[in-house]
Amino acid sequence: MADGKPAPGPMPGNAAPAKKATTGAYTPGSVSPNRRARRSYTIRLWSVRHSRFLEWFYGRFANAFLLLHPLWNMLGYARVERPVTFVERNVKGLLFDCRMCGQCVLSSTGMSCPMNCPKQLRNGPCGGVRANGNCEVEPDMPCVWVQAWAGSRAMVHGDAILNVQKPVNQSLRETSSWLRVTAQAAAARETSPSEQKP
Ligand code: SF4
Repeated sequence: MADGKPAPGPMPGNAAPAKKATTGAYTPGSVSPNRRARRSYTIRLWSVRHSRFLEWFYGRFANAFLLLHPLWNMLGYARVERPVTFVERNVKGLLFDCRMCGQCVLSSTGMSCPMNCPKQLRNGPCGGVRANGNCEVEPDMPCVWVQAWAGSRAMVHGDAILNVQKPVNQSLRETSSWLRVTAQAAAARETSPSEQKP
């Protein structure tokens, strides 16, 4: 173009806008900051459908991580942070489309990561859920809170979804939830009355 600006075209991240227009579906006017591949939705939804198994598995995994507390302590939590964060990002990124907020609440949200909500709501859906259960901002995406409720109903401790979550502490982004939970559990265990010497 003469003014040097790129020619207008479909906005990236706004999947299949022409197809949406023919269905009359609402299409956001600008690019969503949370562009995702449909593959991510598929695996994420699988995780919600298997929330009970993942809850059971995570319980075992957390116990094993806690058993390794002396090792983490010996190596230094700060030193193992980077490799553990790398593994956590990749494993949870694949299974949950994890955004590495560093304060994981999957066990309280039916294995549906609330950080995938474009509004990043941590305590339930906004008022804009579509009739088909999809997000108002990303029409192709099932609302993470509709999914969270479904996943929580299959879990043994699913009523944890009713707990009020604190606002996200942005300073914990890109840090390992696994290590944080382990360090907190170890500290709680060391200060519990049963661990105190007579
Ligand atoms: S709640 Fe945070 S740590 Fe847990 S999956 Fe979502 S972004 Fe990742």
